[in-house]
Amino acid sequence: MVSSLEEKCIFCEIVKREEKASIVYEDDDVLAFLDINPLAKGHTLIIPKKHYVDITDIPPEMLSKISLVSKKLGENLINKLGYDGVNLMHSTGASAGQSVFHFHVHLIPRISGESIGFQEWWFSRAFHPSRKDLDKTANDLKL
Ligand code: AMP
Ligand code: ZN
Repeated sequence: MVSSLEEKCIFCEIVKREEKASIVYEDDDVLAFLDINPLAKGHTLIIPKKHYVDITDIPPEMLSKISLVSKKLGENLINKLGYDGVNLMHSTGASAGQSVFHFHVHLIPRISGESIGFQEWWFSRAFHPSRKDLDKTANDLKL
């Protein structure tokens, strides 16, 4: 069942071909198309065709299908466009930077020596807890 909010979802519109997209892969469950604001040529978004909001919402089987396609398309970026690396990125929640609330994974192709500012930002923000603090947090999180 699709709510009125989901009817306006831009990625659902792409699935229904009501919005243009440059599609690179499609099967019964998964669609992949180029990001309109790429961080590098070939920056791809991989989505389930069905509307799931985020990591808490998507069923594990669907996440597995997205992972398999991520592997195929990551290799494809390396083989066809000459990249030597790929970042897989996902944001769940506005606090994490999610701006389209239809689950998606970013595949960002990378090449040695070309920064997209990501690692610099990461290392500038990282803190350096003691082993004791790391172990305590690990203990709190243990499944
Ligand atoms: P996020 O910020 O992780 O939710 O990523 C959403 C991504 O969707 C952004 O990188 C946008 O550039 C991209 N995006 C938004 N609308 C479209 C669209 N119509 N076609 C392709 N990519 C889109
Ligand atoms: Zn949607």
